[in-house]
Amino acid sequence: MDNTLLLDLQAVRKAFPKPDGGELLVLDGIDLRLREGEIVGLLGRSGSGKSTLLRLIAGLSVPAAGSISYLGRAVTEPPPGIAMVFQSFALFPWLTVLENVELGLEALGLPREEIRRRSLDAIDLIGLDGFESAYPRELSGGMRQRVGFARALVVHPNILLMDEPFSALDVLTAETLRTDFLELWSEGQLPIKGVILVTHNIEEAVLMCDRILVFGSNPGRILNEIKVDLPQPRDRLDPGFRDVVERIYVEMT
Ligand code: ADP
Ligand code: MG
Repeated sequence: MDNTLLLDLQAVRKAFPKPDGGELLVLDGIDLRLREGEIVGLLGRSGSGKSTLLRLIAGLSVPAAGSISYLGRAVTEPPPGIAMVFQSFALFPWLTVLENVELGLEALGLPREEIRRRSLDAIDLIGLDGFESAYPRELSGGMRQRVGFARALVVHPNILLMDEPFSALDVLTAETLRTDFLELWSEGQLPIKGVILVTHNIEEAVLMCDRILVFGSNPGRILNEIKVDLPQPRDRLDPGFRDVVERIYVEMT
């Protein structure tokens, strides 16, 4: 497997000003590497700085110290080739499924027919065939998030950043989406090279990730990095699976 270094973060620090004049240290010396072919998890409780870290990687915000490089180049503004899936889906309610997905490509300046063709491909890939002209309100949460995935995948990004993509879904729908995603990923059908998955769900991290960076209760620090050496597809009932989950649970609490 090619293991090109996609992302390299070193000693990243981020703080926000507090109303009382002090500052809130949110990320304190974060190191993270993502190689081609990997799904890396960022696991931590609410408020541990996971979304802040994703925003830095996406170039939507800048670190106070440390470095972030993407394919060997410093990230200073939103780089092409990084796409995001959000917990809240972030769809435009007045646009159809197809229009929402096409919007993902608008900035690339592609010919009209190519935008249409690639969007239909992404819609088909993610299991939304037949829903092209539906509006988000006509879809279930699971289907809406499929639109979120299609809109991110349509740009054929090198890196897919996922910020709690399954948290707003009921458990069974979340399970179906995770399984479908992992199947496409394992079969090499997704037009992406690496994934960062943000989650507060330990089982989800162990189901999906090759490596998991665990945020501790110390503000802004990664407590540990866990390599998940279990074959895909993973089985919740496998004792090896339970062991990893339990180990992480003990560390986080
Ligand atoms: P997570 O995604 O892990 O739940 P966040 O990265 O959203 O955590 O937030 C981490 C901490 O930083 C929280 O205490 C949050 O209130 C604070 N925070 C996030 N963004 C801002 C901001 N733009 N201004 C001030 N504080 C912020
Ligand atoms: Mg968050």
